[in-house]
Amino acid sequence: MSAFTSLKHFPDEWGKRARCPVCQHASMQIMRFDSAPDQMRCQYCGVSFEIEENGQHLFFVDTPLNLENELRRRWVTRNQLSSVIENKKIETASQNSALEAKPAPSRANPLRADAVKKARTLVELGNSAEVIRQSLTDTMNLTDFAIEEIISDAIGVHKMKMKKRFQKITVISAVALTLVITLLFFLTRLF
Ligand SMILES: [Zn+2]
Repeated sequence: MSAFTSLKHFPDEWGKRARCPVCQHASMQIMRFDSAPDQMRCQYCGVSFEIEENGQHLFFVDTPLNLENELRRRWVTRNQLSSVIENKKIETASQNSALEAKPAPSRANPLRADAVKKARTLVELGNSAEVIRQSLTDTMNLTDFAIEEIISDAIGVHKMKMKKRFQKITVISAVALTLVITLLFFLTRLF
């Protein structure tokens, strides 16, 4: 048995008034259960906890993943909770600064961007996929998979351009044809 007894039923106004003891957001919701004590749930960070009858201790049912070891399914006072959170912040901050010390891997791959550009130009100039594949293999240090991807991207872009061009031509022809027909119509009425 636990050393503390959970409050069975929270007054409704607690949901509106309370702030989350973990993330400090005022987004608390009371969760009511038929056969278990009520729980407060933070809709922002997702913690949920029971409250001891005298309000001194909280019993965490759900915690953020990084506080699971320290908090989950145990009674803590609000002071203990604050110091757990404070320690975690310091720990995370020092981890972050350790991470920052290393050069962050760049997300964009300039090599790949060049290959994409090159492939698109080659397609535009009417080269076959085989020629482009050979050219990329010879000049770029890319995996076969990446090369295939880049080629199909280039072909896709080219097809899209051709389609747009074709649509433009179709529209222009349609307009021209309409003008000619209208002109012919008037000419036939004049003579
Ligand atoms: Zn919260």
